[in-house]
Amino acid sequence: MQYIKKKLKIENIYVENIAKKYSTPTYCYSYKLLKENINRFKRNFKSFSPLICFSVKSNNNLSLLREIKKFGFGADVVSIGELMIALKAGINPKKIVFSGVGKTPEEIKHAINKKILLINAESKSEIKEIDKIAKSVNKKVQIGVRLNPDTNAKTLNQISTGKKDDKFGVNKKTLIDIINFCNNSENLKLKCLSVHIGSQILDYKPYEKMLAVLNKILNESKHKFDFIDLGGGMGISYDKKSKKLDYKKYNNAIKKFLKKHKSKIIFEPGRSIVGNIGFLVSKVIYIKKSEKKDFIILDTAMNDLMRPALYGAEHKILPSIKSNQKSVKIYEFVGPICESTDKFSVIKNYQILKEKDLIIICDVGAYGMSLSSNYNLRPKPIELLIKGSKIKVIKKRQKVKDLL
Ligand SMILES: *Cc1c(COP(=O)(O)O)cnc(C)c1O
Repeated sequence: MQYIKKKLKIENIYVENIAKKYSTPTYCYSYKLLKENINRFKRNFKSFSPLICFSVKSNNNLSLLREIKKFGFGADVVSIGELMIALKAGINPKKIVFSGVGKTPEEIKHAINKKILLINAESKSEIKEIDKIAKSVNKKVQIGVRLNPDTNAKTLNQISTGKKDDKFGVNKKTLIDIINFCNNSENLKLKCLSVHIGSQILDYKPYEKMLAVLNKILNESKHKFDFIDLGGGMGISYDKKSKKLDYKKYNNAIKKFLKKHKSKIIFEPGRSIVGNIGFLVSKVIYIKKSEKKDFIILDTAMNDLMRPALYGAEHKILPSIKSNQKSVKIYEFVGPICESTDKFSVIKNYQILKEKDLIIICDVGAYGMSLSSNYNLRPKPIELLIKGSKIKVIKKRQKVKDLL
């Protein structure tokens, strides 16, 4: 993405032209960035060639999944819907892992039927349920157990998942209990130990701690796990000042770990693969002046992009046409929804905007469209994949009549 003569382009396409042809709000994804992210991720860990299972919950667009599959990726799914879309995208079931604390019997049956690589269970009750179902269909099922390593990921509280009071995973005592249970089961094969300590992690140290906990538990448990699933969580830079995750250090820590524990490593990245490839193009509907600030009222809202309202997340907002005239008033970028949290950003010294101007909200490829809703009965945006000078519609805009 860059400005050419003050006009913003995504790959070879002017944002202005996207809005003219497809209207707004519109989600755009850059294929070039997707490819770069995938290749960089693989390169970072190439010495032990992990199985990389893309976290479908970060973005479940079928066309994008098909592109990601072409790079040899598997999928990490958390519902029957995600499992079915991953299979529909052509992802090999032997590269699919199923995570989540509350899989229903129906979901477990489906996963067993499709012969996926692993069902990663998160409680003793779930293990018993999988065992019961496996017995009833007379199958041997490969499972994993998710450990709660009690590691602070130092990320937003709302997206931390590896502390002992989080609902995810099991503690050491339960893990040992589960290992014994599986050893006595004819239908369960305990193949994997998994962890996922949170999302948007920019410090490698929590990962190091997590590996130290795994190392200790593996030594104590004496169970041989064919797979160690380290989850995802690798953070991206939502603003220029933010630090970057040190992949080299993370990679070195894993290599050290693997010297003692020979297992296949699985990763489940979402955000680090698709986060920065997405752009949400929106139009300024009104500018409402108030005493202290001006409200920039957009045609996109928290139903299209929930992260600011849900976690107080900040996304860069760029103008489609750059100018040097700065506003003396503070700008508050908001959507039209009847909630005070329907607010994207408060920015000082922004360039002066006019009604009908276009803006672009950046880094919305992960947990953007996948978290969108029809709140206020608003139809969902169109999704476009941009490849050089080509635009492909990868999801049609919903129509109001689809919602009635
Ligand atoms: C959400 C999630 C991921 C992906 O997290 P990112 O931060 O997007 O990389 C991976 N594994 C599990 C179990 C998850 O719940």
